[in-house]
Amino acid sequence: MSALELSVLEIARRVRSGDLVALDVAQECLQAIKRAAPLNAFLHVSEAQVLETAARIDARRARGEPMGPLAGAPIAIKDALCTRDAPTTAGSKILTRSATGAGWRPPYDATAVERLRRADALIVGKTNLDEFAMGSSNENSAFGPVLNPWDRTRVAGGSSGGSAAAVAAGLVPGAIGSDTGGSIRQPAALCGVVGVKPTYGRVSRYGLIAFASSLDQVGPLTYDTRSAAQVLEVIAGHDPLDSTSSTAPVGKYVDACGRDVAGLRIGVPEEYFQEGLNPEVERNVREAIDLLTDRGCHIQSVSMPHTRYGVATYYILATAEAASNLARYDGVRFGLRDEPHAGGVTAMYGATRDAGFGPEVKRRILLGTYVLSAGYYEAYYKKAQKVRTLVKRDFDSVFGQVDVLIAPTSPTPAFRLGEKTDDPLSMYLADVFTLPTSLAGVCALSVPCRPTEAVGAEPSLPVGLQLMAPAFCEERLFSLAATWEQMAPKASRLGPPPQLALKGVSPN
Ligand code: GLN
Repeated sequence: MSALELSVLEIARRVRSGDLVALDVAQECLQAIKRAAPLNAFLHVSEAQVLETAARIDARRARGEPMGPLAGAPIAIKDALCTRDAPTTAGSKILTRSATGAGWRPPYDATAVERLRRADALIVGKTNLDEFAMGSSNENSAFGPVLNPWDRTRVAGGSSGGSAAAVAAGLVPGAIGSDTGGSIRQPAALCGVVGVKPTYGRVSRYGLIAFASSLDQVGPLTYDTRSAAQVLEVIAGHDPLDSTSSTAPVGKYVDACGRDVAGLRIGVPEEYFQEGLNPEVERNVREAIDLLTDRGCHIQSVSMPHTRYGVATYYILATAEAASNLARYDGVRFGLRDEPHAGGVTAMYGATRDAGFGPEVKRRILLGTYVLSAGYYEAYYKKAQKVRTLVKRDFDSVFGQVDVLIAPTSPTPAFRLGEKTDDPLSMYLADVFTLPTSLAGVCALSVPCRPTEAVGAEPSLPVGLQLMAPAFCEERLFSLAATWEQMAPKASRLGPPPQLALKGVSPN
């Protein structure tokens, strides 16, 4: 049996007990990544470092030294997080040096990465993403789209598409993503894996390349809920290097996975089941809700009337913050520098940014600059801040009546590559169910439910069930998701990952 059929938790357990050799795990993982190159999930593989780390873990184990909770488990990192031993591109050409073509090498690790290393995880490489995490399909990457392992004519979702596809294809049992408006949950849903967006402030963003700082969060993507819980336990917690990281104690997420959910009050927001929702997604999500009733959960319908303003509000605030955050890419401090013959430093800024940023990033910088400009600030930015408060109040109010909310993660299964690239608005609407939680700063998770039926030559596609809970109540999400995973109808489970890898990316 391949080690890559095992979860993060199981690999770590076996490496600690000596049943599994970390170096074997590392080698299998590197081979699987090579075989799956057509998926385009990885932008960089840290081959030498992974082998070295794995050998060191095996040597420490042989000496009887204590091992970390993720001992020998391969974890891939979205290329929006800084890693000291690998280039960091954010999916953009602007971080690539013009002269050498080499990617920017940060002199430090993001806190989440450092904590994973301390827990003895194997940091195998950097995964593809939409440029600066702006997108819902990975088609905005300067390095080409990621293909969905279930159907290579379809998108893997975004912006953490490389992380989601790598886990779904069985290349790694776990990965790290970032979620500003859905970028962990939506690709997790479209690829059929578990993805967690922790509460704003739960995980340090130190070393995460900033997109929209009032929304960005780092979180795990894994085959199974328990492993997501374990990875979150490792990366969560206060960090003096990120003033927005919370000092609230980290929950016992793995223990929460065994907890009984009988009596849990689950709200079903009616605004998430309206026009635009794919009927098969609706049917499969409702099936899951019905099955949870059998577990003693109390289901009740709730209303969140400001849901429909989520997309507009998010795309004003996120673009405003992005325009400010991306001002630092000026050809002086990082990567690319394009120097025209005349025009001095101003021309250099312009030429560098023109050559370095892709069309979606430029669109957002323009939108963001517009909504912040004198005369429009009040009408757009300030108003959006007020609506954000209303969206948050919807959550405060329903969480007075229910413990958890359930809804679809994405209105449709994975769409076709190219289907939405000419229509930014339809792409933005793909985020309609993930944006409100981000605006409210609460926590949410996507777990697979029954995939769509295969029809003729059309393969079955994953569907994600989104669970949402109040700020710092991640334990509730894990209890419910783990219960659901246990009872999920057979068809809603992923096949063993390597089978998927073979189906999606045949080595021949
Ligand atoms: N798809 C959303 C966007 O394009 C969210 C991205 C994210 O969460 N990073 O902005």
